Amino acid sequence: MNYSSERIADLLVHIVRRSVQRSASELTSAQWSALRFFAHANQFSRQPSAFASYHGTTRGTASQTVKSLVKLGYLERSRGLSDRRSAVFDVTPPGMEALNTDPLKTLVQTIDDLPQEQRESLCASLLTFNKGSQEVGAKTHFGTCLNCKHFRQSSLNSGFCNHSAAALDVYEIDKLCCKFSSI
Ligand code: SF4
Repeated sequence: MNYSSERIADLLVHIVRRSVQRSASELTSAQWSALRFFAHANQFSRQPSAFASYHGTTRGTASQTVKSLVKLGYLERSRGLSDRRSAVFDVTPPGMEALNTDPLKTLVQTIDDLPQEQRESLCASLLTFNKGSQEVGAKTHFGTCLNCKHFRQSSLNSGFCNHSAAALDVYEIDKLCCKFSSI
């Protein structure tokens, strides 16, 4: 099997689009994307503007999506830990429950079922694509602490973010961040 790079890129987009559309749920694919984003993002990133960059949409559209999830009781506004003046949005218990029916779960299960070696190879390829998008000038870049040049490990279960001058516990280290910069 030897697909051209164009064919692989096309297949990748097709699989992802099909995975997020396969649902008769009450939420649109943009709402699912937002709910996932706010469930996985760290304290510096749970804002509509970061979601707009992540989802490749305008701030206005992202705000409308966030508002609709607040109205459904899936997101709630709170004060940011890192900047008490700016609002962040947290997923509520009903929002976490809704994520149990996320249409992306089928794809997650397929990835779970891959042999370890294939999973690691897939992950390495995706991290390379992510780094590539940073190098071609994507304005905001997303990733997690262990692959970020701003991260310093301080103990087994904690670290420090040099960009935000903030201590990070083990729970935050694995979250998606909009301040990320690839090593
Ligand atoms: S170390 Fe990097 S990924 Fe982690 S919080 Fe800081 S900027 Fe974000």
